[in-house]
Amino acid sequence: MSNRSIGLDEPLYRYLLDHSLREPDLLAELRAETAVLPEANMQIAPEQGQFMALLARLMGAKRYLEIGTFTGYSALAIALALPEDGEIVTLDQSAEWTATAQSYWERAGVDGRIRLELGEARDSLRALEATGEMDTFDLAFIDADKTGYHDYFEHCLRLVRPGGLILVDNTLWHGTVADPDDARDDTCAIRAFNDALHHDERIDLSLVPIGDGLTLARRR
Ligand code: CA
Repeated sequence: MSNRSIGLDEPLYRYLLDHSLREPDLLAELRAETAVLPEANMQIAPEQGQFMALLARLMGAKRYLEIGTFTGYSALAIALALPEDGEIVTLDQSAEWTATAQSYWERAGVDGRIRLELGEARDSLRALEATGEMDTFDLAFIDADKTGYHDYFEHCLRLVRPGGLILVDNTLWHGTVADPDDARDDTCAIRAFNDALHHDERIDLSLVPIGDGLTLARRR
């Protein structure tokens, strides 16, 4: 027995999925379609989608902001967990990836509660702040270019209400954050981001070793 987080080898990870994953058929289909793309590793793990949906339900979340739509898996997972009057704003630059996303949102019947904004995320975030959407989101998820994390997080701290939750993906970055020989821009950006949040008094913090590392930051 140990008082540290458990590592998951392949048999144990398989066990976790076999004994807890409740992935709706449409999400499984979207995951399979995305798996053939060269960028497939940008999709979140299914157990992470389930965890995020559970968080949304726990919070009674109605408004969800997402930076990095990709093919729409996380937006769909959250959309299925929101109430009828829930609203999602999701930001991406790729018309191609988000076309896949939109087709699945339509099939799930949740496209009416998802607003996709294509373009530079910083511009979209500034526009949300300028049009009175500050303090209106219950939940946010940052999963885009890693060198932008600092800026995206500052925007989310203004757009999420006090008591709301900001989730940040890939904060263990395939384990490379702990490899002193890895000096790539993305790795350095995530390390600096993690260090800044560690001592940020504006939030309550937990870095959860699910998927590629998921940071939970609750706005105080
Ligand atoms: Ca990611």
